[in-house]
Amino acid sequence: MAHKILLVEDTETELKFLKTSLEENGFEVVTAINGSDAYKKLYVCTPDIIVSDIIMPVIDGYQLCRMIKNDEETKKIPIILLTAMDKKIDAFWGKKSGAQLFLTKSIDIRELILHIEATIRRYPVKDEYKENLKIQSESTSTAQLKLNNILNDLLMKSTFSNEFRNLSDFLNYERILVEKLFSLLSSFVEYNVAGIYFSSPDDFAENILYIDTLGKNYSKSLLNDVSRDFFKSMEERKAIKNSKFEVIRMLLGKETDYQISDFASKIIIPLIFDKKLIGGICFYTAQDINYTSFRYFDIMISELLAIFKMKYQYTEKEFMSVLDGLTGLYNRRQFEISIEQEFNRTKRHPADFSLAILDIDFFKKVNDTYGHQYGDYVLKTVADLMKQSFRKTDLLYRYGGEEMVIIMPETNAENALLPVQRLRKTVEEYDFEYNNVKSKVTVSVGLSMNYQDFTNASDILKSADNALYKAKESGRNRVIRHEQ
Ligand code: GH3
Ligand code: MG
Ligand code: MG
Repeated sequence: MAHKILLVEDTETELKFLKTSLEENGFEVVTAINGSDAYKKLYVCTPDIIVSDIIMPVIDGYQLCRMIKNDEETKKIPIILLTAMDKKIDAFWGKKSGAQLFLTKSIDIRELILHIEATIRRYPVKDEYKENLKIQSESTSTAQLKLNNILNDLLMKSTFSNEFRNLSDFLNYERILVEKLFSLLSSFVEYNVAGIYFSSPDDFAENILYIDTLGKNYSKSLLNDVSRDFFKSMEERKAIKNSKFEVIRMLLGKETDYQISDFASKIIIPLIFDKKLIGGICFYTAQDINYTSFRYFDIMISELLAIFKMKYQYTEKEFMSVLDGLTGLYNRRQFEISIEQEFNRTKRHPADFSLAILDIDFFKKVNDTYGHQYGDYVLKTVADLMKQSFRKTDLLYRYGGEEMVIIMPETNAENALLPVQRLRKTVEEYDFEYNNVKSKVTVSVGLSMNYQDFTNASDILKSADNALYKAKESGRNRVIRHEQ
């Protein structure tokens, strides 16, 4: 019996030429004009081999090949891919797609026939196998269904990947990253409460579980329970101390009287990379659902893992470095080291030093009004103005999001007041402008120094922070000095 070839080619003249040549050599030939056409015909004609062009509309040769090779029902049918050009990239994808053979179109027709015959001999398709394929095609519109599913999967996969990859722009700003992640996750996972946690290489960093309640107002005790429950299951991998939670996107309104026991389903997923816990996510839902039955669960996890990995590496880099990436000021870790050193030094060799903590006023509004990129520009600009306002011997740090600290060695609070006031005024007068958007920004500052009765370096920071709080309370855009 003649061997049957499913020949796939979108150029009509080439299709005709190949069909005739193959038929003249005793093959039975069924033709298809693109990958999706071929996939549908595959079930009906049950060929011994597929010979396919690569570059075609709708579904190309690689995709066709992967579809066929990924499916138990069709994977045993051998495939020869033909390419117009002998490009390296073609050979790469050819191998990846699982084709048995990869030939250039310039090949002599007799040689092609020899290859086809050899491939059929090497990979014979049993009659039962073909029979099974036929049955599938008769019972339902299997091929079309599968095709649709595969197309959906492909589309879903690339959409997923794109959506997740886009998040990598926000690695430097955890809160925005978290907000974007929640809005993405909530678009395809059912939950009442979800949590996201990034672990940090810094053992002293706080472990924050960001919680999303989809706008609903849950009681603090419920959210506490969720956070405890989450960290408990993370703890099995790493002892997590010092944990807290922060709620994102919760609207004020009537409090729902849920308890954690009302959640019929939950899933807590630790994200592990290189044997390290790099974070975790969790979902809690009132209905009884099996999260892992979510069709794209695996894709979601692998995409999450990729973004968590990037975030971890970013944090690690920041942690290892001395400077803050955005502002170029020293980072918080350096601050913790320096304040300790400076405090101990002045205990041994009595001298004054001052510490100011600066916080941008209504910074959240800047972000909300102009976007976080604009916010980043403001942060960077304030840092630049700081660099201009202080002496070379003064030390400047980015303490937190929009909080900066200045340590002024050999300076008492009275003398420190001058440059700090000057900075406040400079910021107030500065015309911020980014992408043609102008704005005004002010800062509040709390000032303190190493007073005699302070026994700890942290007392200085605390007192400056209290002064900052007063500056905020009394109207912002001002400097307040800690009073003894
Ligand atoms: P207040 O005058 O009381 O200080 O008001 P505020 O809005 O500045 O106070 P709050 O501390 O609530 O807001 C600080 C905001 O800073 C929250 C966050 O949106 C933003 N933020 C923190 N870090 C960054 C960052 O790296 N980039 C940007 N663009 N925004 C940040
Ligand atoms: Mg603040
Ligand atoms: Mg602020």
